[in-house]
Amino acid sequence: MAALKAGRPALDAVEAGVREVESDAADHSVGLGGYPNLLGDVEQDASIMDGRTLLAGAVAALKGYPHAISVARKVMEMLPHVLLVGEGATRFAGEMGFTLAELRTPDAMAAWRERLLKAMPLATFETLHEARDLAHWVYLASDPERAGGTTNFIALDAEGNLASGVSTSGWFAKYPGRVGDSPIIGAGNYADNRYGAATCTGMGEMALRAGAARSVVLYLKTGMTVDAAVRQAMLDLNDLGGDYLDSMSILALDREGAPAGFTNLEQGEIYWMLTDTMTAPAQVIRTFVQTHKRWGKR
Ligand code: ASP
Repeated sequence: MAALKAGRPALDAVEAGVREVESDAADHSVGLGGYPNLLGDVEQDASIMDGRTLLAGAVAALKGYPHAISVARKVMEMLPHVLLVGEGATRFAGEMGFTLAELRTPDAMAAWRERLLKAMPLATFETLHEARDLAHWVYLASDPERAGGTTNFIALDAEGNLASGVSTSGWFAKYPGRVGDSPIIGAGNYADNRYGAATCTGMGEMALRAGAARSVVLYLKTGMTVDAAVRQAMLDLNDLGGDYLDSMSILALDREGAPAGFTNLEQGEIYWMLTDTMTAPAQVIRTFVQTHKRWGKR
């Protein structure tokens, strides 16, 4: 809000907002202190989209840089590309002058070690890097205590420009190199000044398969209200088959600044809303929509 009040564009506001969460070591779903993958590495996914131009930038499986959102923005601004992954993303972050940092905090690593050792013998844990059967352990990613979380920001500035930013360290104990919905434009993030913007949290594989964020914006384009558009995108998740269907929450803002937050998690899930006339952000309860859930090989 400070950025918006200073006359800066929505894009600056979402980047600044996401950076705050990325810096928070107590938040284990993103940036510094994010829960690691199966091998103990924090791999970050992030994307940013500018509703003025539909330009977007993203990074996936980025290691060692706490502000994935800012690296994503640089991809958008400096390259003719949208998405860089893994080593290329890391190399680019260094080239752009970002500072390397240790993202693995002692408490996140202790939680990782403790959870893995509950599931496997010490000898297996110690040789996991050489293991040929990592896929066997990926069910640990369904640990409800540590599964995931993502930060979503959507902003509308005084000029009517929309921007959206998404950042996450993804699912705890995910397979190395697994990329979720957050860095995929159209899945976890989409913004178009003419209609609105949408972002997702939850089981990224579902938003990927349903093209969830883009669906919301297309539904807005057809003339639906923001509530109807997000509800429909949530209900579309019921078309997904397969054995792995879990949490999904979608946040949206239409071009007039009307928000909508929906979730298939238990009722009482919230999002935060702040306008220039409010003195503090307010919690808004998300609308609950039941969608199919199953986790085949728990
Ligand atoms: N959507 C994120 C992912 O799949 C995680 C989450 O929001 O819980 O990586």
